[in-house]
Amino acid sequence: MPPDSAVPDSGGAGHPTRRSFVAGGISAAGLGVLAAPRRTGNAVAGRTPGGRDPWEILARSISGPVVRPGDPGYAALALPYNLRAASVRPAGIALCRSARDVATSIRWARKYHFPLVGRSGGHSAAGYSVTTGLMIDTKLMTQTAFDATRRIATIAGGVRNAGVYQALQANDATITHGRCPTVGAAGFLLGGGIGLNIRTLGVASDSLVASQIVTADGEIATLSEKENSGLFWACRGGGGGNFGINTSFSIQAVPAPRSVTAASLTWTTKIDRLVPALLAAVHESPVRLGTWITLDAVTPRQLAKGEDVSIYFLGQLLGPPAELRRILAPAYAVARPSESTVKEMGYWAAQAFFSEASTPSEFQNRAFYFCGPVSGEAIDTMLRWLRRWPGTSIYAQLSFLRTGGRANAVAPHETAFVHRGNDWYMIWYLKWGKEDSRALVAENLAWLDAFYHAMAPYAIPQAYQNFTDPSLKDYLSQYYASNLPRLERIKSAVDPTRVFHFPQAIPPRRAW
Ligand SMILES: Cc1cc2nc3c(=O)[nH]c(=O)nc-3n(C[C@H](O)[C@H](O)[C@H](O)COP(=O)(O)OP(=O)(O)OC[C@H]3O[C@@H](n4cnc5c(N)ncnc54)[C@H](O)[C@@H]3O)c2cc1C
Repeated sequence: MPPDSAVPDSGGAGHPTRRSFVAGGISAAGLGVLAAPRRTGNAVAGRTPGGRDPWEILARSISGPVVRPGDPGYAALALPYNLRAASVRPAGIALCRSARDVATSIRWARKYHFPLVGRSGGHSAAGYSVTTGLMIDTKLMTQTAFDATRRIATIAGGVRNAGVYQALQANDATITHGRCPTVGAAGFLLGGGIGLNIRTLGVASDSLVASQIVTADGEIATLSEKENSGLFWACRGGGGGNFGINTSFSIQAVPAPRSVTAASLTWTTKIDRLVPALLAAVHESPVRLGTWITLDAVTPRQLAKGEDVSIYFLGQLLGPPAELRRILAPAYAVARPSESTVKEMGYWAAQAFFSEASTPSEFQNRAFYFCGPVSGEAIDTMLRWLRRWPGTSIYAQLSFLRTGGRANAVAPHETAFVHRGNDWYMIWYLKWGKEDSRALVAENLAWLDAFYHAMAPYAIPQAYQNFTDPSLKDYLSQYYASNLPRLERIKSAVDPTRVFHFPQAIPPRRAW
């Protein structure tokens, strides 16, 4: 349906239209701060030949509200989780309620020459779900369904992790999922999806059995092994924002374990002996153990005062507490943890225990994968750098997720998620706040860069596409490796003119 003639679909009854939304607060009609008209070809963005306001046309054409600068709620809706990107503000936000709304919005943006971007949970690590044009936000699409016979969870494109957990918990089922309840399932699944279940269930996108997508031409397509199989392949790890806007996902779940051993342990002493002991113990552990091990950096000043790097171990074992204590015996032999919880819990009680709700801030991630055990030399290097942190008002951390198991049972080319055959994923989180000066932030970023390069010789040059790292130069080969040529061919077929584009997007395949 052409966007101009589209009318609110049946979902529109009782929903705030642009007019009722605006009537509830400040009218944006007069205040509407259109992005400066942008010349594209021979047309000008933001104008119609007849002088009609294209935003009014969009608002009349979709069932969800269109929110403009000055409207109530605009500022919060525009904000990305990574506040580094907060200054890029959309000319308008289409809060879509259906795939049809998404299709209409895409066609509208193309017709009036506005750049567009998809937004689900807004947690893009590099803040890539921002635009100066139209933000197509799926957050009102929160339906979930569960087919108990086949144990397939179907979730709409705007569901966040918390909604996925609810749908699974209600049906005693699980998948590989993360720990942050506000991350969007769309971004999580499209880029792969890693978490404590990775060694037993693989990456989350390994369990994807179907998806619905709206492509650059505004067509709604079903994706599965049987329908549009190439694009389905690309949506299993090719990363959000590259091929279209996915409006639903069907995921093969498995029965959730009745109980697990959940552990949270902190060590603050004998760190030089503890880190190798703990990493070696977890390296040798059965795949039934899922772990995140996090090292907190300290400044030289903290070090001089007697503080040191601390170790935070989070573990989920499909087995009894005694088994976890046996696995960790080499670390316990070095030092007793200063804080310790090791407890058998129901599966979803354990997920609440592991949950990591956090608030938006400015941050930078960098990451590598490792094959084999992390060597003594690599550990010495990392501890040296962790003790040279320039310091911010928040933190700098280096975390390790034990990978492998089921994730390595899938060949790199079977899905677009190429990172197979590794044993560890290592990721830095550097966070800072408003009170940190520009000079201090620059010093921190330089420290992170130097630290990253010091670790490079021990790692494999691959980075996980869901923790987008804006400082990566060779991001396409790091995110996609040998799968890149096929991804570029698919991009050429479905979006040759790059309607879906962001700084690290997959380009269409060059003709030569
Ligand atoms: C605090 C935090 C914790 C995290 N924890 C984990 C974790 O445990 N495991 C893990 O694997 N990852 C984790 N991540 C990374 C996370 O999976 C990615 O950042 C993911 O892309 C976020 O998805 P989103 O929908 O929230 O983000 P958004 O910013 O909305 O979108 C991310 C990208 O996907 C595009 N996009 C958004 N919606 C759609 C859609 N419906 N269809 C197509 N493209 C779309 C956007 O344009 C953007 O390019 C975490 C990130 C943060 C910030």
